[in-house]
Amino acid sequence: MIELKSQREIEIIRRSGKVTAAVLTEVMQRAQPGVTTGELDAFAERTIRERGGVPTFKGYRGFPASICASVNDEIVHGIPGRYVLREGDLLSIDIGTTLEGFVSDSAATVAIGEVSGEARRLLAVTQECLMIGIAATRNGAHVGDIGAAVQEHAESNGFGVVRELVGHGVGREMHEEPQVPNYGRRGAGAKLRPGLVIAIEPMITQGAPGVEIQKDGWTVVTADGKLAAHFEHTVVVTEKGPKILTLRELGEHPSVENFRPEAETGALSR
Ligand code: MG
Ligand code: MG
Repeated sequence: MIELKSQREIEIIRRSGKVTAAVLTEVMQRAQPGVTTGELDAFAERTIRERGGVPTFKGYRGFPASICASVNDEIVHGIPGRYVLREGDLLSIDIGTTLEGFVSDSAATVAIGEVSGEARRLLAVTQECLMIGIAATRNGAHVGDIGAAVQEHAESNGFGVVRELVGHGVGREMHEEPQVPNYGRRGAGAKLRPGLVIAIEPMITQGAPGVEIQKDGWTVVTADGKLAAHFEHTVVVTEKGPKILTLRELGEHPSVENFRPEAETGALSR
């Protein structure tokens, strides 16, 4: 069952989202050559707790860390550890915060130092996919409208759309109904109504969209070993359009552009 959130609940998720956004920004800034993903995780956990939150991922179905850190061909759910980031890597950082009983969920992929032109294009298109998906998240539209918009943008740029993992409703639980696929048909799926809070999270591949799971039981990688990127925001449907609850401030990382004004006004609508 899809549960719409009250104004009060949305305000709590917005506060939770502010913590997630601030911590994600700081982790993105610290993602530089020579830093380990384990150091980023320790920093994130400390910072989430200092801000009064709990890292949602830690212990979730046994996940051992507070963030997911997925490098290069790793798409999502990478376990932070001893890996030392190096020039040319792509790093996807996913963070969830629980605050006052409500979850917020956001992710971004950053370039570590200089990366290839193709990697930069993958980052840009994946972030555009997220913003185009958010722009489609309007009162009266359908879940399929989001997926169709994301899929069209990714595939028209020659990239793949991961099918095995999807976005989701967000609330007291990290994963609530409805599922929000990054592919689909316009007009299909549940209707979007004011008070619906969802995480939209395109996972886009440089090559074929097929995935495999590593021996650690968590890390999802591209089956063909090519690069992947992942951007995610927690979004609420309102009568006045979609509102991003995990919005980051400007200046978050040199490799990530900021689409904020367009996203807030819905100017990316087509
Ligand atoms: Mg996430
Ligand atoms: Mg999510």
